[in-house]
Amino acid sequence: MSWKNELSKAVRTEEALLSSSRINLSDREKLFFRLPGSRNFAFSVTDYYLSLVENNENDPLRLQCIPRPEELETKSYELSDPLGEDKYKVSARLIHRYRDRVLFLVTDTCAVYCRHCFRRSFTGGKGGTADEADISGAAEYVGQHKEVTEVILSGGDPLVMDTSVVERILAAFKKVRNDIVFRIGTRVPVVLPSRIDRYLVETLKKYSPVYIMTQFNHPREITSLSRRASVMLIDAGIPVFNQTVLLKGVNDDPGILEELFHRLVGLRIKPYYIFQGDLAAGTSHLRVPLGRGLEIMQELRGRISGLAMPVYAVDLPGGGGKVPLTESYIVSRRDGVWNLRDSEGRAYFYPDEDI
Ligand SMILES: *Cc1c(COP(=O)(O)O)cnc(C)c1O
Ligand code: SF4
Repeated sequence: MSWKNELSKAVRTEEALLSSSRINLSDREKLFFRLPGSRNFAFSVTDYYLSLVENNENDPLRLQCIPRPEELETKSYELSDPLGEDKYKVSARLIHRYRDRVLFLVTDTCAVYCRHCFRRSFTGGKGGTADEADISGAAEYVGQHKEVTEVILSGGDPLVMDTSVVERILAAFKKVRNDIVFRIGTRVPVVLPSRIDRYLVETLKKYSPVYIMTQFNHPREITSLSRRASVMLIDAGIPVFNQTVLLKGVNDDPGILEELFHRLVGLRIKPYYIFQGDLAAGTSHLRVPLGRGLEIMQELRGRISGLAMPVYAVDLPGGGGKVPLTESYIVSRRDGVWNLRDSEGRAYFYPDEDI
């Protein structure tokens, strides 16, 4: 079956989910679809991803794709624009938050709508797909702003679009800026690995450098098919980086993350970020307290190699941007001597000059 066929057969309604032989919904899961407001949150899951889900309400893969009634509980501090991006919008789809890179939201569609998505007020029928005018407008902006060296295609998932459309977008930027570096943020290696086909890989290769930024959140998402997809990309010279989201009940455990990051490195995928949950509406049941996140990272630092270790970061609510979250190893500085500590808390001194 072609990837397009597979995508068109994705489960998108309660009825389709109830009739799927892959899963038996619990009463609580069924309740979600009956509650007023459930239609505000898009739902779709591929048969492939559903085949990885276990029949247990608390399965870590299930928590990422099957909605729960908790999604309809909005906390007072949750936001429809959790990253405060509105003020950095050059147009409805182009966000210029950091000096040398822009984010272009090319489509609102995804193969699987992640229950933790921080862009859920854009995805799933709310943001639409870029038309020719959007594409040429974004390319023109990048052509005029020489400080921009990277274009990040995001959404939604850019790789649910036809390869010819992806190519039109890449070509539009390349035409105005031959030196541009592309990143594509996509979850298809995890949720629809058949999408990574020869035609796509050959196309991306033509617009090199193209980096793929994907999102594996649990070791069980690494399968022979997702492995094949990443090998095809990487063997063609398309580097793959991973951005994990720290999720309660999914991966808020140093042992799970250690296994995930080791297996990614084994696939030549660099763990790049692990994100603290953003304050998107209806995601509080999946958010891990920040203090717990710090503890987990502290434990991992003593256990795994630098290559396997991503940066723990949060996108500050209200538009502050991404900042790394680390327990400081710098204790103080006095008379030209730095007082540092190791991961067990022991003190060390590093002089900058003779004293
Ligand atoms: C995350 C993000 C980027 C990329 O940030 P890096 O730290 O370079 O990965 C760029 N633009 C926006 C708006 C972002 O949210
Ligand atoms: S693939 Fe990305 S944009 Fe789409 S639902 Fe998941 S997190 Fe959101």
